[in-house]
Amino acid sequence: MTSESDPADGQPSAVEPTNPSPATGPAARAQAEIARLLAEPLPPGLYLVATPIGNLADMTLRAIATLARADVIFCEDTRHSRTLTAHYAITTHLVPYHEHNASRERPKILSQLAQGRRIALISDAGTPLISDPGYKLVRDALEAGYHVESLPGASATLVALTTSGLPTDAFFFAGFMPPKSAARRTRALELATIPSTLIFYEAPSRIAESLADLAAVLGPRPAVVARELTKRFETIQRGTLDTLADAAATLEPRGEYVILVGPPIETEASDATIAALLETLLSTMSLRDAVRSATDSLGVPKSRVYDLAIALRDAQPSDDVE
Ligand code: SAM
Repeated sequence: MTSESDPADGQPSAVEPTNPSPATGPAARAQAEIARLLAEPLPPGLYLVATPIGNLADMTLRAIATLARADVIFCEDTRHSRTLTAHYAITTHLVPYHEHNASRERPKILSQLAQGRRIALISDAGTPLISDPGYKLVRDALEAGYHVESLPGASATLVALTTSGLPTDAFFFAGFMPPKSAARRTRALELATIPSTLIFYEAPSRIAESLADLAAVLGPRPAVVARELTKRFETIQRGTLDTLADAAATLEPRGEYVILVGPPIETEASDATIAALLETLLSTMSLRDAVRSATDSLGVPKSRVYDLAIALRDAQPSDDVE
């Protein structure tokens, strides 16, 4: 969409889009851009390349051009990544780099970097290093002084967060939770007071029990279950941890999941806040009505408000005249 300034008020005004000709339209522009990138030499170094999390079209032009020009692509599973490289006619050699061979392969990659080679690292999906291999390789490459560059692209974390409807100003990515329930509850307790949206990756086989453990520890906070993001059967369920746990218990889990939990619900009002409100209310209404009104407006337990109201009343000087 183009826009230009309207001389009358200086505000931008929309200009009717015209049908782009094939020579100047988006396809031609994208083709020209990728041709330009492919013609540029790729400097030696380690390139961390984000790849799609399900929709093959979520590949950036720079990612395609970098993978095509690299001397080698390290990936978790060569068969899996070949689907992506074949789709974009990328012929660069694929070599496995995963948690089982990483400590053996890392020194070999570092020696290739020493020879001035261009190394790309991708994962099965999304951004490498995010709950995926690569952290130690990056650490060692930086320590040795090699060029390390990260190419942004898809990550399930941000796709889930931005579509969740939960607060985005502060979020805490907690990766995968422990597989056993007791350890999971301990982890949830550690995270309970973080004033941010919490984001977890979870395996389909554990989705129901993880939601139940989170609900048991964190209470009925707003939460979201984001499934199969960017794919044909993408589903986003919004609710509270307890309702989502109940719903998950009745469904057959399938696909890939992200769990998001809203920040802690505002901490309960302090005694001073409750007492101040009660004092105002008690000046115009009965104790019973004041307790009911304060309980409703502050959302605190009635018994707590009642105890404070009695204490306030007892502390009042008596009106009895001798
Ligand atoms: N590096 C990846 C990223 O940047 O998102 C994450 C890799 S981690 C091994 C895989 C987990 O990410 C899955 O178990 C799931 O929790 C989440 N995930 C990946 N793709 C997803 C998708 N399309 N929809 C929902 N969750 C996804």
